[in-house]
Amino acid sequence: MKLDAIQLSQDLIRFQSYSGNHPQVIEFLVKTLTQLGFTCDILEYDGDGSYKVNNLHAVFNPNNSEKILYFAGHTDIVNEGDKAAWTHDPFAAKIVDGKLFGRGAVDMKCAIACFASAVSEFLAENKNPDFGIGFLITNDEENDSINGTKKVLNWMQKNNKKISHCLVGEPTNPEVFGEMIKVGRRGSIGFSIKIIGKQGHVAYPQNALNPITILINLLKILKDHKFDEGTKFFDASNLEITSMQSQNLGNNVIPNEASANFNIRFNDLHTSKSVVELVEYACKKTVGFGATYELTHRTSGEAFLSDPKFLAKLVADSVEKITGKKPELSTTGGTSDARFIKDFAEVVEIGLVNKTAHKIDEFSEVSEIEDLQKTYLEILKNL
Ligand SMILES: [Zn+2]
Repeated sequence: MKLDAIQLSQDLIRFQSYSGNHPQVIEFLVKTLTQLGFTCDILEYDGDGSYKVNNLHAVFNPNNSEKILYFAGHTDIVNEGDKAAWTHDPFAAKIVDGKLFGRGAVDMKCAIACFASAVSEFLAENKNPDFGIGFLITNDEENDSINGTKKVLNWMQKNNKKISHCLVGEPTNPEVFGEMIKVGRRGSIGFSIKIIGKQGHVAYPQNALNPITILINLLKILKDHKFDEGTKFFDASNLEITSMQSQNLGNNVIPNEASANFNIRFNDLHTSKSVVELVEYACKKTVGFGATYELTHRTSGEAFLSDPKFLAKLVADSVEKITGKKPELSTTGGTSDARFIKDFAEVVEIGLVNKTAHKIDEFSEVSEIEDLQKTYLEILKNL
């Protein structure tokens, strides 16, 4: 049985599946994948300070192979905004002038449809593949991401469900399909620093301790620090100061406190731990002579890189065969659920064009949906 990628994309867009619990869209996928021979588990998680989410785990592995390629993605969508501002109803999945319009078209229902369609076509000709195929679908990637992919991966580990390779279908191309795949991401940490000095009169600085001077010195040292020179796949790690505040007590008053926020994007030559240790060391060395400091930080993700020798190469070669373009292997951009998956399997992101993601009139070119389906099929054929 062969599933049509465009029809399936339209079916998925018609579900108004905002982040959280949406049993209908997950059940629709269960029905679709069961027909292809997959064993499906609906996994519902709740709690840990977040709302209830339903997720889908599906697997087809007739030879109980160690090699198993998962497709990971999300059925949840962000809000459509002002419905009246859309040229076409965001949930009608209308095709006009070769474009499929709808909320979630690029991010990322069409990619799920493409993978299911590619799998159906592959299995029609290869009934007994020597590797397994799996789906990890969540209905909460766009929002909290607490009861989604992360918990499904833990469930898989506990239940001995293998995963060796994973494609994430997030939109990866800036302008046209085939330009870019993502083979990793930089890590990110936000810091807040507060320096506590000693308030006093500007005419008698010997009786005060200016926290602004200390803060400026510290930030200069951190900003001037060369973390690294970048690698083949990553830009150099970088620190950006995002805000500075002091008490602004008047033109003749040295304030008591000054604070700043900064963010560090780091590559895989570092870990969040090593970056935090370095910042703490700089604070200890710079702040002294009676001043104190308070440093807090929040890590949003570690840096990771998929081994460019196997899956990334296979994906890049498949893109080139279908589109004629040599895709850039990129590590730029924001976070995705790949940040959780990378601890369990080699992961590469490849999807549609991200230009209209989350916007009014989100759409995908029908021809690019077809190319994505062919690319996924090519990956399956050469795994
Ligand atoms: Zn997405």
